[in-house]
Amino acid sequence: MSQAKGFNPFEMAQKQFDKVADLLELDTGTREILRNPMREYAFNIPVRMDDGKVKVFRGFRVQHNDARGPCKGGIRFHPQETVDTVRALAMWMTWKCSVVDIPLGGGKGGVICDPHNLSAREQEGICRGWVRQIAKVVGPLSDVPAPDVMTNAQHMLWILDEYEAIHGGHYPGLITGKPVGLGGSLGRKEATGYGLVFVLREALRELGMKPENTSASVQGFGNVAQFAIELYQRLGGRVICVSCWDQKDQTSYTFKKEPAIKLEELLGITDRFGGIDKEKAKDLGYQVLPGEAWLTQDVDILMPAAIENQLTGETAPRISRKVRVVAEGANGPTTPEADEVFRERNVFVLPDFLANAGGVTCSYFEQVQSNMNYFWEKDEVLGKLDVKMTSAFHGVSELARQKKLYMRDAAYVIAINRVAQACKDRGWV
Ligand code: GLU
Repeated sequence: MSQAKGFNPFEMAQKQFDKVADLLELDTGTREILRNPMREYAFNIPVRMDDGKVKVFRGFRVQHNDARGPCKGGIRFHPQETVDTVRALAMWMTWKCSVVDIPLGGGKGGVICDPHNLSAREQEGICRGWVRQIAKVVGPLSDVPAPDVMTNAQHMLWILDEYEAIHGGHYPGLITGKPVGLGGSLGRKEATGYGLVFVLREALRELGMKPENTSASVQGFGNVAQFAIELYQRLGGRVICVSCWDQKDQTSYTFKKEPAIKLEELLGITDRFGGIDKEKAKDLGYQVLPGEAWLTQDVDILMPAAIENQLTGETAPRISRKVRVVAEGANGPTTPEADEVFRERNVFVLPDFLANAGGVTCSYFEQVQSNMNYFWEKDEVLGKLDVKMTSAFHGVSELARQKKLYMRDAAYVIAINRVAQACKDRGWV
């Protein structure tokens, strides 16, 4: 699951954008506004480490577009973080909020660090340091962060606590993904994985496939993958393998069991980053295969739910001819070259910014609940999430059918059109 050298996610995001901008015949001004982030920040975060020495981490926040509402998007902790990755992810957030039609724009943040090697206290230092550097430009009405790769509710609370200390008041709307009981929403943990399965369920229905007759192979075993597997299996689907990163060996492995993996069993031997213990898995009867084995399995559905740049011009041709659906839980897992392969093979792609929009949609519900200071039951949150995801899916698939567009392009057309219109209505172009 490592990043290929030379891969630039921002170039990929721009390439995807340019294609649809041509299709929509967007004017030059709108293109220029949308092709690049509105604002971006890069800064140092000095942290006193447990050994007493100060280490300086590099942090980022990119605000891609706020024509439809405050910027919204997670903060990633990743050892290979780059500003271009954050730019791409910020742009994808703009399209994500737009395609599900929530009143928010797009942003993303990151810190170059590896939380595997950091104590809780050191991570707290990074969180507090991050927001100290950026406290003037984030806020409930301007830019609202959230969890992402290797960050969670605890990190969000440290950031909020520091922000509130700086501003001297309570500002629960600063950040989403907060712990339940401290401004968080029930269902937020489940939201991205469940949202992925809500749209998968609709896609299968459209393809005339019954979930109970399907099988899937999953990349990743973090927050998104775990809840996606849980709901997909509840619908009757069989996940035959998951692939995840092994920190000790600095490589990834695929864990396979037929007729299906057992979620509870794997969760019992998984660390907090979604890494599965190899030896214990073998004891439980799992085959341990090379990391890439997940993508060559004879399954109906592939769920890349880890990180960007996994289905590429090189790997996509190796997927099984049986695969009918690719449900993108990760952001940016598929390159334009792989899209060509899928298009040619008539694979039904649930594009990332639609398929994984459940997280930010629930973040939006969290904001609404925080503003009212009245919190909904979990079923209510998940019910509203289902309605939003299902209607976004049908909007996109209907357009794809009508105009004979590839699903990703149809999702882009809807998302970009809404943002372009907002820029125009505001008089920016
Ligand atoms: N990090 C998540 C994403 O990529 C959620 C963002 C949010 O809740 O603001 O969609």
